[in-house]
Amino acid sequence: MIKGIDHLGIAVRSLDEAVKYYEQSLGLKCEGIEEVASQKVRTAFFNVGGTHIELLEPTSPDSPIASFLEKRGEGIHHVAFATDDIEAQLAAARDSGVKLIHEKPFDGAAGKLVAFLHPKSTHGVLTEFCQPKDGAAAH
Ligand code: ZN
Repeated sequence: MIKGIDHLGIAVRSLDEAVKYYEQSLGLKCEGIEEVASQKVRTAFFNVGGTHIELLEPTSPDSPIASFLEKRGEGIHHVAFATDDIEAQLAAARDSGVKLIHEKPFDGAAGKLVAFLHPKSTHGVLTEFCQPKDGAAAH
């Protein structure tokens, strides 16, 4: 079951410059910077009333974020829904006819299991499901 919007993923060219904007212009506090090797990105997280902003900077030219930036420029990259059962959520989406990018969840940032739905099946929005690895309710 979907519990809420966990985070919005935003593709940026420079994490350092984007972090500066969120801190200095919006007054938010960066909670941490983490590299996710499997996705070839560096991420920075901001807590905005329980929902997070996840900034994504490519660490390699063949990162999915690098190709997104090339095609569409900086901007919102994905919406992540918190779920308490990512396997069931993926199965339900697949059974309803949605194309999955990942059949199986994998380790994402912030200690969560994540998987993505294909934007061709989701009216143009790259959609992520995420679930804390310990199975506790997502924050
Ligand atoms: Zn994400």
